[in-house]
Amino acid sequence: MLAIIASAHGSPEVLTLREVPDPTPAAGQVTVAVTAAGVNFIDTYQRSGVYPVPTPFTPGLEGAGTVTAVGPEVTGFAVGDRVAWCAGAGSYAEQVVIGAEDCFHVPAGIALPTAAALMLQGLTAHYLSASTFPLQSGHVALVHAGAGGVGLLLTQLAVARGARVITTVSSDDKEHLSREAGASDVVRYDKMTDLSRELPSAIRELTGGTGVDVVYDGVGASTFDGSLASLAPRGTLVLFGGASGQVPAFDLQRLNAAGSLWVTRPSLGHYLASQEERAWRAGELFSAVAAGELNVRIGVTYSLAEAAAAHAALEARTTMGKVLLLP
Ligand code: NDP
Repeated sequence: MLAIIASAHGSPEVLTLREVPDPTPAAGQVTVAVTAAGVNFIDTYQRSGVYPVPTPFTPGLEGAGTVTAVGPEVTGFAVGDRVAWCAGAGSYAEQVVIGAEDCFHVPAGIALPTAAALMLQGLTAHYLSASTFPLQSGHVALVHAGAGGVGLLLTQLAVARGARVITTVSSDDKEHLSREAGASDVVRYDKMTDLSRELPSAIRELTGGTGVDVVYDGVGASTFDGSLASLAPRGTLVLFGGASGQVPAFDLQRLNAAGSLWVTRPSLGHYLASQEERAWRAGELFSAVAAGELNVRIGVTYSLAEAAAAHAALEARTTMGKVLLLP
């Protein structure tokens, strides 16, 4: 089969298409023919070496496809089943072997590329809005990168929970898309020269001087200080990624001075802690998509061979919504 191999850590060019042996499932595993593989920011962290993964390796954690073989001791899955996943290492390939317990059945009526696009970013948007800071009617949330993969889904889920959502974006097209997803106000942070000062001032203007209850910040290094200063007293900063770079060491005393604030750095795996939790989150997402209440935007698709271009586009801030590889 064909698969992408990251031969070393580095820029997107380390990703090349190679012929590799077909995988076979061990006990508890299934083999899946990959229809769509999701491209996520974490893939770029692993490729560049920010998150250490030994090389060579096949990137990709997410996708959707059809089961082609079932290993021993697997229950609940059969050849021909349509499945999706967000913890299937090596998904940038024509076939991948995944633990059956990491697979979700894709309901009839939901296309496999849509399911692939929903998994990692959708489950993240779900746990951020329902669990890390459980949004309720009356809350005001700031969502950075509002037209990104997580951003579009998180905005919709937050609005559905009754929150008012303010987003940041870097272009006119992104602003348009973010408003369509339900943002009440969109801040153009690309036009700001000093985010730590200008961002909180824009947010306070939009909130009658109060600040927001929660900031969902996946941008990290460039926004962190501005995010903290945009919070109302006792507000929560949910730092869930570092698209602009990782946030450096931080003096906890700043939380006191800025208004008894909370900071958390969550990770999806800890919010998929049991089969019940996984089924709850995925079930709510699939139901919302089937009911037409959650729009999954596939922004751009690439062939498997174009994985390097997909990474370059994500890192260059040119993408909106989901980026998929179609093997
Ligand atoms: P996005 O589609 O949101 O792409 C990242 C966006 O970040 C860009 O489009 C851009 O939007 C914004 N951005 C701001 N500054 C930069 C920069 N210097 N370089 C690149 N992008 C920048 O990606 P994802 O939806 O896949 O992920 C969003 C964040 O969520 C990432 O940090 C990711 O690591 C994190 N994440 C965390 C998870 C967790 O459980 N902790 C799980 C899933 C994702 P704009 O142009 O509008 O500024």
